[in-house]
Amino acid sequence: MGNISPAEHSHGIDLESALDFLNTLHPGHGRTDEQHLRDEHLESPADAAMWFLEHELVHPDAGIALLDTDLARIRRVRSALREIVDSVVEGRPPDADAVHLVNAVLEQRRPTRIELDGTALRIGHRHAETPVDDALALIAEAIIEELATGRPERLRVCANDRCRWAFFDSSPTGRRRWCDMRSCGNQAKAARYRARLKEAEEHEAKHPRPN
Ligand SMILES: [Zn+2]
Repeated sequence: MGNISPAEHSHGIDLESALDFLNTLHPGHGRTDEQHLRDEHLESPADAAMWFLEHELVHPDAGIALLDTDLARIRRVRSALREIVDSVVEGRPPDADAVHLVNAVLEQRRPTRIELDGTALRIGHRHAETPVDDALALIAEAIIEELATGRPERLRVCANDRCRWAFFDSSPTGRRRWCDMRSCGNQAKAARYRARLKEAEEHEAKHPRPN
């Protein structure tokens, strides 16, 4: 490679973390308002800044101070990405506004560029205008890249309607339905068991066995 050096810093985010970003708002249906409040993990701009830092989406030394308007944008982008993933999982076209917003986020950043470093060629990347745009673009890229060149058919939304956690099914058979067998999987099993038991009892009540 001689005089070609990689970018001084490369940051990105894996698909799992990108999906975790979507799950910072617990999406389940039929939850109470109180549960929804508890399930918003990006409650304040500081929470969002911390999330970005923890996932190395911003330079730790740069430090970012986010405003309420940033948080509002972060949440809007999160719902748009969520809509894209949901639409893929459900096999339907996504909401046009969501497509629009995700494209705007992606366009904030061109991932690769070449730079001349003295006499050497360096592979770098362009940064977006603000650290928030940069972080959101990296998250969007991870998800969109999976749709483009990965295995979008492995994207899942937990079959527990009160959970609806987004995840990637990396199981050998590709038939995972729940985010976690110990919680949602067992709940479903227990619910099916209770339903069968009830059915049997009702049947018994209607058709008592002769003594
Ligand atoms: Zn679940």
